[in-house]
Amino acid sequence: MSRLIRAVIDVAALRHNVRTIRERARGARIMAVVKANAYGHGLVPTALALAEVDAFAVARLEEGLALRAQGVTQPIVLLEGVFAPEQLLEAARYGFDLVVHDALQIEILEEDPGPHRFVLWVKIDTGMNRLGFRPEAFPAALARLRNLQPAPLEIRLLTHLARADEPNDPMTAEQVARFRETIRGLDCAVSIANSAGIFSGQHLGCDWVRPGLALYGASPFAGRTGVDLGLQPVMSLETSVIAVRHVPRGETVGYGGAWKAQRDSKIAIVAAGYGDGLARGLASGTPVLIDGSRAPLCGRVSMDMIAVDVTELPGVQVGSPTVLWGRGLPVEEVARHAGTIPYELLCGVSQRVPLELR
Ligand SMILES: *Cc1c(COP(=O)(O)O)cnc(C)c1O
Repeated sequence: MSRLIRAVIDVAALRHNVRTIRERARGARIMAVVKANAYGHGLVPTALALAEVDAFAVARLEEGLALRAQGVTQPIVLLEGVFAPEQLLEAARYGFDLVVHDALQIEILEEDPGPHRFVLWVKIDTGMNRLGFRPEAFPAALARLRNLQPAPLEIRLLTHLARADEPNDPMTAEQVARFRETIRGLDCAVSIANSAGIFSGQHLGCDWVRPGLALYGASPFAGRTGVDLGLQPVMSLETSVIAVRHVPRGETVGYGGAWKAQRDSKIAIVAAGYGDGLARGLASGTPVLIDGSRAPLCGRVSMDMIAVDVTELPGVQVGSPTVLWGRGLPVEEVARHAGTIPYELLCGVSQRVPLELR
C-alpha cells in the first residue's frame, strides 16, 4: 500500500516507438529530441534506452553535458546553439553539433581562436518567426559559415514547422516550399519534420527527422491519440488511494467546495497533486483509472491529493492502484480536460516524482 506517486517508464514502448517512427520516416535518420528532461521521462535513462537512434537533440548545453557524462556517444545537437564563446569551447570539448540561427552565433564562430570544427545545422525561418535566418538573409549567413577557418565538418539545413499538427492547414506546404526555394541548388542534408511532420501523411523528403512527443508515445494531433498512430505510451503516472470516504448528498469536497455530491457518494482520496506536477487546471470529470476502471475527478486538485468519485466502483479501497495517465488512459485525453496539451503535462511532472524504469 505504501507505493505513492511514481512515473513508470516503459522502455520496450520507447523502443517500439522508435521502430514505428523509423518506418514512417522512410529512411531518414532519427534525431531523438530529449530536451526538458526527455519530456519528463528522465534525460539520461531515456537516452541510454535509445541506443539505436542516430543523434540526440537538446535545448541547453547542460543537457548535452549530462548525456556525455553518462557515456552517451552519439552526436548531440544543441537546438539553440551556443550564446557565448565559453559555451563554444564546451561544445567543442564534448563534440556537440550546433544549430546556428542568428548572426551573433556566426560571430562567435568567426572569433573562435581554437581550431575547432563543428557539424553546423543552419536554421532557416520559413514562417515560424521564432529562430532562424529569414530566407533573404540566409545566403549571406551560409557564405560566412563556409568561409570559417578551419571549415565546418559539415553544413546541414533545418527549418521548424508551426502548424504541422493541423494536417489540413496550408501553412506546412507553404513553409516546405519556402524552405526548398531557399536551399535550391545546395547539396546539404536537410531536416524539417517534428512528430507532427512525421505522422501528417505528407512526404516531407528529409534526410533527418526530429521526433520528440512521438517517441514518448503521444500524439501532437488534437483528437488522435498516440495509440491511433501506432505508438505506445511510455510514461504511466501511477499512485494509489490513501483514503476512502462516504460523502452524504449535498456536501462538498475539497477547496472552494467546488464539487457537490448529487447523491450519497463514495470518494477516493488519491496521492497526487499539483506538487507532483498534476495540472491544477484539471477539471471535475477528468477521468482517473482506479483498479483499472475509469472514475471522474471531483473538485480541485490540491498540492498532494485529488478526490475521485468512485461511487460506481465498490471494490475501491485504500491501496487501490491508480493511474493518472498512461496505458489505458491517454495523456492526450487528460490534457484535454485541463485545457492544455500532452507536452505540458509530461514536461510538468515534478522532480519529487521518482522515475521507475520497467
Ligand atoms: C522540440 C523540437 C522538436 C520536437 O518536436 P515534437 O513536436 O515534440 O516532435 C523538433 N525540432 C525542434 C527544433 C524542436 O525545438
